[in-house]
This record gives sequence, structure tokens and C-alpha cells, in this order.
Amino acid sequence: MKIVILPGDGIGPEIIAQAVRVLEALNSDGMKFEMETALLGGCAVDVTGNPYPEETRKLAMEADALLLGAVGGLKYDMLSRDKRPEQGLLSIRKDLNLFANLRPVFLYSELVGASTLKPEIISGLDILIIRELTGDIYFGEPRGIKLSDNKQRIGLNTMVYSEAEIYRIAHVAFQVARKRNKKLCSVDKMNVLECSQLWREVFEDVSKKYPDIELSHMLVDNAAMQLILNPKQFDVIVTGNMFGDILSDEASMLTGSIGMLPSASLDDKNKGLYEPIHGSAPDIAGKNIANPLATILSVAMMLRYTFGQERAAIRIENSVKVVLAKNYRTRDICEVGMKEVGTVEMGDAILTNL
Ligand code: NAD
Repeated sequence: MKIVILPGDGIGPEIIAQAVRVLEALNSDGMKFEMETALLGGCAVDVTGNPYPEETRKLAMEADALLLGAVGGLKYDMLSRDKRPEQGLLSIRKDLNLFANLRPVFLYSELVGASTLKPEIISGLDILIIRELTGDIYFGEPRGIKLSDNKQRIGLNTMVYSEAEIYRIAHVAFQVARKRNKKLCSVDKMNVLECSQLWREVFEDVSKKYPDIELSHMLVDNAAMQLILNPKQFDVIVTGNMFGDILSDEASMLTGSIGMLPSASLDDKNKGLYEPIHGSAPDIAGKNIANPLATILSVAMMLRYTFGQERAAIRIENSVKVVLAKNYRTRDICEVGMKEVGTVEMGDAILTNL
């Protein structure tokens, strides 16, 4: 089981170090993970001038799974777009054809008080957001900043989905919904966008093959509102790249902190890149206060989706639950009366309870 570890930038190396300790603990319990570390993002730009160096690409191609911290940082914002850390991430997703991004939005009962929403709105929350990851306006051509006929600069991006891309993500969404509560909500903007109209037509077509799944559609503006008003109405949400980017960050706040949410980005053979949904958090980097739980929970997703090691995945998730029940909290989820711990101490607590 070959895993490439990509610590990245900002808090990336700190949170990845704790997740690697979990993998090492499982190795000493008889699992056989081979780990190799590689550069992606700003740290790769610093060393090679390229956010996605060839050596990383080679290792990524050979790996079964990848574990990423996060990429990005202020010092890279001035670079041309192709040299920015985020470009490294977009390139590796595209290169490995990781088109299905799964983002569980699960509220640990111990963290009900850490959310800004009322307990009765969020307690028991368990949603899965599926975001298409390799198409849409983030990749569509033409794009750029150009001069118009009357010599004004125009910013241009193109929202585009082929029906093949929509069919592919639709099948993943229906199959995932089948393993949960058999309710799938597809989010689009078909009242104004032709791209969304095609999205909806394809979902209607695919739904004929999954008669046991209840498919509904929702416009993205309404979905943004419903996630706050009544989030428990959802089970599985599926949407395109840009809408999914925004809605999943919004949904993360239902659970108290962005530092709690893992994600998986899968190809059609369950090879995956696993990462917390947050960024490199430069504001807290190097202070030993970042929450490593989203990254540790990303390891659990890796064990489940790529390696089929359900028991080991549950062991990790249970350890997180026990640690929270014992009131260990990093600063982002800490409430009065809880034990505030740093990144490393949270890693210690997870290992002790694994
Ligand atoms: P961010 O997710 O890094 O941070 C947003 C807020 O959440 C900050 O206040 C941060 O301190 C907090 N936060 C994030 N992760 C946390 C954790 N584990 N524990 C505690 N608090 C945490 O988003 P941003 O500030 O908009 O972006 C910072 C950089 O990250 C940018 O360069 C951006 O491009 C990049 N980014 C990378 C990814 C990725 O690598 N997948 C995703 C989003 C943003």
C-alpha cells in the first residue's frame, strides 16, 4: 500500500506530521504502508520553481493514495498563475483524473456547542457533499484577462461541462447515496445557466437506472440558504466544481470548525488524494495550534475508500470521538471548561486512544 505524503505549506507540515504518526502506529500493528514524501505547492516552488514538479508527478502516478496537508501562502500570491501553489493542486487533481470529491459534513455530538448555529438545528447532522473536481469554470477555456474591442480589460472564464463528465459524477453520486439514506439532492443553477440545464437533464436520465434513490434538484442560491435554515433535510448533495467549493466551506461551519472536515478525491478506480478541506492557514502556521483532526480523519477516509480497511478506519474515527469526549480541544473548537491542547498534544491523545 503505497502512500505519497505531501505536507505542503503553512500548517500543512504540522498537521501531516500527526497524521503520519497515526499511519506509523497502524504499521507497527501489522499494516504495510510504504510512505514517501514529496513536494507540492509553495514548498515545491521554493525548491524547483514548479508547484507540481516532475518528481512528485512520477511518485503520484505510482502511488495507491496521496495524503496532502495544504498548499498556498501570501508570499506566492504575486507569482504568475502557473507558478502559484494552488496550480500545483489543480494540476495533480487533473493529472490523476480525481474527478469525485467526497466531503462528509459530520457533527460530533461533543462539538454541538462549538458551532455558531443552535443545537436543535445541527445536532445529529450527517451530510455528504460530492463535488465534481476536474471540470467547470476552474478549468474551462477560454480564460484570461484580455483587451476588448474598445480597449477595456476584461476578465474571462468559461463554465463548461461535457455530458460524459456529468454522467460520470452522477453515477458516483447515486452509488454513494445507495450506501446511505438513498436521498440525493443535485444542486445547480439551471434557471440561468445552460451548463446547469444539461447537468439537470443528465441527472434525470441517470436516475432512471437508480429507481431506489430519491433524486431532488435545488438551485444553488436556495441550497446556500437551506444549509443554514434546515441542514438536516439533506443526506447526499452533489454539485459542480465551483458551487461545491463554496457550499462545502459553508457546510463546514455547521460542524464547528473547518479544522474537523476531511475529504477524498477519487478516480474511477478508487485511487485517491486525501486532504483536510481547509487551506494552509498562514495566520496560525508554526504556532502548534492548528487542529490536526481533519487530516487524521482524511487518513480514515483513505483506509476506507482506497484500501478497503473499514475496521482500521473506524478505529481512527472512534479515537477522535473518545478524545473529544475526554474534552481535549485545539483552540478552534475549544469552549469554556475544556482542555486546550496544541497540534502535537492532540496527536498524542489520538495515538493514546487509537
Ligand atoms: P484557510 O482554510 O487556510 O483558513 C481559513 C481560516 O480557518 C483561518 O482563520 C485559519 O486559521 C482557520 N483554519 C484553517 N484550518 C485550520 C485548522 N486546521 N485548525 C485551526 N484553524 C484552521 O483559508 P484561507 O485563509 O482563505 O487560505 C489560506 C491559503 O490556503 C491561501 O493561500 C489559499 O489559496 C490556500 N488554500 C489551500 C487549500 C488547499 O490546499 N486545499 C484550500 C483552501 C485554501
